[in-house]
Amino acid sequence: MTARILNGNLIREEIYVELREEIGALKAAGITPGLAAVLVGDNAASKVYVNSKVAACESLGIRSFFLTPPAAITTQELLALVRDLNQRDDVDGVLVQLPLPPQVDAKQILDAVDPSKDVDGFNPINVGRLVAGRPNLVACTPLGVMEILRRSKIPIEGAEAAVIGRSDIVGKPMALLLLHANATVTICHSKTRDLPATARRADIVVAAMGRPAMITADYIRPGATVIDVGTNRITDAAQAERIFAKFPERLAKFREKGSALVGDVHPDVVEVAGALTPSPGGVGPLTIAMLMSNTVKAARMRHSGRAAGAATVRR
Ligand code: NDP
Repeated sequence: MTARILNGNLIREEIYVELREEIGALKAAGITPGLAAVLVGDNAASKVYVNSKVAACESLGIRSFFLTPPAAITTQELLALVRDLNQRDDVDGVLVQLPLPPQVDAKQILDAVDPSKDVDGFNPINVGRLVAGRPNLVACTPLGVMEILRRSKIPIEGAEAAVIGRSDIVGKPMALLLLHANATVTICHSKTRDLPATARRADIVVAAMGRPAMITADYIRPGATVIDVGTNRITDAAQAERIFAKFPERLAKFREKGSALVGDVHPDVVEVAGALTPSPGGVGPLTIAMLMSNTVKAARMRHSGRAAGAATVRR
């Protein structure tokens, strides 16, 4: 058996077609959605992420504001910057790229983002709304996973789901979204006693641990849907040889570049799963698509004066 590959790039394009239409309608009404991205300092990986978010804005016709305060910024200075963005009428979404430098109190900064502009869905008000089943702006990666499942017609209601990882950014909101969609959800973490057996019970496995290729075929019930959120860069040749033993093209690419991106799910899982997201090319593209979608949603809500009222899990 070979799993159906759930291609995140194709699903993102589907969503972009819909978003372009929605943005066109907003613009016709005199509203141009705007996203402000704050990148503190010089972190190379963060730069790549923020650049791709800004590029996505440009391709969709969302106005973007790219702020790059210096790495030495204080918590108070960054708070002032965020509060200024909260006030600006041309900014609908505010995103502060993580990680922040150690002298900055990241929690204080994230808490300061106006909940109606919190397109990352990290503000406790938005987290609380999600817990209460009245979601407003929800974290982009788990929202993207739901889009993959729904658009790929994977049944969720009544399904057993195992979410591996319990971070505030991915695992917890993921579990809540699946629960609200009527899955029976088990949240697994580093202290889970028998992870393979727990995962093997699931119809849907979401892996979000940051452990390269840890989820091997023996964690997966034959035919299950496997969503690989993990994005890990590996540079060790012996590790690459083990992971890509059955994938000579990926191994050749690794040798050419000296590194490769792999998910938390071992590529051999393609032989047992019923459906599988690749990594890269699965969940990643949806994360940015959902950021765009949240920005458009924030613009729509702010300008219709219904910012506190929207109550659907779906966009
Ligand atoms: P965190 O490090 O914040 O959380 C990792 C979670 O995995 C923790 O809850 C931890 O458990 C659990 N975990 C770690 N090791 C094990 C193990 N051996 N067995 C079971 N559980 C384990 O990571 P994030 O949630 O931020 O990210 C997870 C992965 O997703 C990363 O690879 C990251 O790069 C990727 N990611 C990808 C995105 C995308 O757009 N594709 C976006 C965001 C993240 P415990 O709580 O007990 O420590």
